[in-house]
Amino acid sequence: MESAERMFALDVVRGLQAAGHEAVFAGGCVRDELLGLAPDDYDVATSALPEQVQALFPRSLAVGASFGVIDVIRKVSGRYLKVQVATFRNDGPYLDGRRPSGVVFSSAREDALRRDFTINGMFLDPVSERLLDFVGGREDLARGVLRAIGDPDQRFSEDRLRLLRAVRMAARFGMEICPQTAAAVARHASAITVVSAERVAEELRKMLKGARRSRAAALLAELDLLHRVLPEAGHLVRVPEELEKALGALGRLESSAGAMAALAVLLDGVDEAVAIPMSARLRFSNQERDLLRWLLRHSDFLSASEGMRPSRLYPVLAHAGAADLIAIGKARVPGAAGVAHAAQVLASLPREVLCPSPWVTGNDLIAMGMKPGPAIKEVLDSLLAAQMDGELADLDAAHALARSMVA
Ligand code: ATP
Ligand code: MG
Repeated sequence: MESAERMFALDVVRGLQAAGHEAVFAGGCVRDELLGLAPDDYDVATSALPEQVQALFPRSLAVGASFGVIDVIRKVSGRYLKVQVATFRNDGPYLDGRRPSGVVFSSAREDALRRDFTINGMFLDPVSERLLDFVGGREDLARGVLRAIGDPDQRFSEDRLRLLRAVRMAARFGMEICPQTAAAVARHASAITVVSAERVAEELRKMLKGARRSRAAALLAELDLLHRVLPEAGHLVRVPEELEKALGALGRLESSAGAMAALAVLLDGVDEAVAIPMSARLRFSNQERDLLRWLLRHSDFLSASEGMRPSRLYPVLAHAGAADLIAIGKARVPGAAGVAHAAQVLASLPREVLCPSPWVTGNDLIAMGMKPGPAIKEVLDSLLAAQMDGELADLDAAHALARSMVA
């Protein structure tokens, strides 16, 4: 069945072609369709100039007008769909190792040649169903080879982000990087530092998500990139056994575990304190930083879960990172008893047991005569612990204990 996104993109192509322009699906969506995967989004490339695109599609936004990119918008059953329409172009000289200094509008062929890898460089005319392959992408796709378009040294000098895209694409599609391209990545690896932290982090997030992350990490290490983007995991590069262990654990990490869980696996044995400067460097969100730090802090916690009091174990299992922590534990030591026990507790106990409402509140303590202040929290914590550990029969017992502590 055809998705709403594809139908919309097909209409855009038809509209452009009807007005006498060349128009095709371009890049990632063509690759995905040839692989039998559903593209995340459709990009259209066209001979029409940006102003011609906007004239044909009034509901559009000139998001990257200087690059010839127009977002065409359509509302379908309450949802906004977007197709990116880009005029065929040549990128001008790259000056900063990241972005072209300008673009020149050109032909489909030239637009293919400016793209990064052959599998990403194809066009498909969805009306005639004809593939336009100027770069040998179809064959590379069929053979499972990731290959830079043109001279790899030049392409990686132009834009250093491509170094990480090479790793991500090869891992994601389970492809081999062709030897010349791989050698060029390794040769240019030290220049990855010119790429902004946000872009590096975004690539890391993408490659450390899902089932292929072990391969991605292996490629990062192999191509001399791992310690440059993650110096905190430098031990993996210095000690081959450590790398092997981490890759094995990453491979076992269930795919529902997120990118921070994967990072925690790579940082196994590293002090939780690294999460702070590392997250600042990579511009992680506060939520990502806190999760990473929490995962590192608790990396050994579950191994002793069996004999643990509920008041120690349950707050950890009630934390938003608990599923990730369990996944990490299972991946590090398959069959570890403490982790299995924690998983079973998490699965069997309802939330209100793991994280009960306290029988005694701060207001209760104040009504009993306690002065507001830090001591209140200490009393509340110990009352809640007693409640969770089953030392209190009921609410009356809790209040009786509270009164005895306040007195
Ligand atoms: P994804 O599914 O991750 O979005 P994609 O291939 O669609 O994969 P995009 O970043 O959306 O990747 O880029 C769309 C297309 O633009 C690519 O397929 C490629 O042809 C081209 N492209 C993207 N980034 C670069 C780059 N840094 N250098 C050259 N071409 C690029
Ligand atoms: Mg894309």
